[in-house]
Amino acid sequence: MNANERVIIVGAGHAGATVAMQLRKMDFAGDIILLGDERFSPYQRPPLSKAYLAGEEDAESLKLWPDEIYESKGIMLVQSATVAALDRAGKYVRLADKTEVSYDCLVIATGSRPREIALPGIHLAGVHRLHTIEDADGLKAAIGPGKRVALVGGGYIGLEVAASVVGLGGSAVVIEQQDRVLAGVASVPLSDYLRRAHEDRGVEFLTGVQVARIEGSKGRVTGIRLGDDRLVPCDVAVVCVGVVPNTGLAVAAGLDGANGIVVDHDARTADPAIFAIGDVTCRPMPLYDDRMFCLRSVPNALEQAKQAAAAMMGKPRPKPEVPWFWSHQFDLKVQIAGVPFDADDLVLRGDPAAGAFSAFHMKDGRVLAVETVDAPLEFAAGKQMILRKSVLSREQLVDPRVEVTALAV
Ligand SMILES: Cc1cc2nc3c(=O)[nH]c(=O)nc-3n(C[C@H](O)[C@H](O)[C@H](O)COP(=O)(O)OP(=O)(O)OC[C@H]3O[C@@H](n4cnc5c(N)ncnc54)[C@H](O)[C@@H]3O)c2cc1C
Repeated sequence: MNANERVIIVGAGHAGATVAMQLRKMDFAGDIILLGDERFSPYQRPPLSKAYLAGEEDAESLKLWPDEIYESKGIMLVQSATVAALDRAGKYVRLADKTEVSYDCLVIATGSRPREIALPGIHLAGVHRLHTIEDADGLKAAIGPGKRVALVGGGYIGLEVAASVVGLGGSAVVIEQQDRVLAGVASVPLSDYLRRAHEDRGVEFLTGVQVARIEGSKGRVTGIRLGDDRLVPCDVAVVCVGVVPNTGLAVAAGLDGANGIVVDHDARTADPAIFAIGDVTCRPMPLYDDRMFCLRSVPNALEQAKQAAAAMMGKPRPKPEVPWFWSHQFDLKVQIAGVPFDADDLVLRGDPAAGAFSAFHMKDGRVLAVETVDAPLEFAAGKQMILRKSVLSREQLVDPRVEVTALAV
């Protein structure tokens, strides 16, 4: 990219703001325009279900960078600006107010949004979702001592919100259609452990149940009616049933994006002038034979922002990183690295009954992924094993006399 060229970034979230900063770090001297449809400057979403909801962090501390940094780095941050259309042939984007802005290079960083479910009663007052600061502020105002909160969906966000609700003196019930929480994203030992940990702290669970509708009175939620006709009374409901990528712009412009915009190892789409990064993408996984996968996490947003900036600036491609994710629930620190894809063996190190433990997902002795609870050494070592494609025996991994850090080298 030359100094007389312009990069437009659509979406001022974790990925979009980071690629802008990376470009300046790599001495890009041209225009950078960062267009975001939210009212806030780029901020971190993870605390919205954790410390921010619990009142331990404020909006200022969520900011990725202080507001003045953007101007000082020559990044034109435009807030409350929705990009409505993309013209690839003309190389410009059109905003909702009809302004057209041309680009030499475009980065789509539009993230994801909560999955909608067409439940009767979903629009009642007191029914929340959680994706933005405004959502978190609305939810925070509704929960507190004595409030009973129903979480529809037992994924990570549902569990984190349940923990925050209980921490604030309320009560929480998690309603999950699968027969266990975190089904599909965590091993059985981890989901069992977290369920027990929540139950010990007062959270109730209803698993293997369908939600038929949300009941209300005078326009306000009063409970969740299950498929078997039971009523779960509540003052507040939070629907957290996953996210879908914001691929509309890209798909309307003819890019491949059924389940996430398809990108390569440089985060480049099939259009050489267009990159896509973060939650909105479906990407190859170099540590897993380039299988295509949609990672929806902060570390992925950061990794792809670095890939795109390096490719735009003609710099060497950054080394592949091990995907990872974290979750905080009560005083528990969960850290997960890798993706278990074809794993057919699960090796536990440590005893879940005793607290800290880790679960290694293996295939033919190779560590593909590791889940840890309060086990930072196992997490760090597991990441190394995944990166190095280490082959280990079950016996080595379970033996507490063998230092896990020694196994990672
Ligand atoms: C409550 C919650 C808790 C989470 N906890 C964790 C966690 O513990 N660990 C973890 O790794 N990840 C967590 N995540 C996920 C993490 O926040 C995302 O993976 C990350 O924010 C992705 O960054 P992104 O930039 O791709 O998308 P986003 O941060 O969603 O940013 C995309 C931005 O683009 C804007 N946008 C969309 N369309 C347009 C348009 N047409 N025009 C202009 N702007 C547009 C959006 O409004 C948004 O501001 C959590 C997410 C939530 C909601």
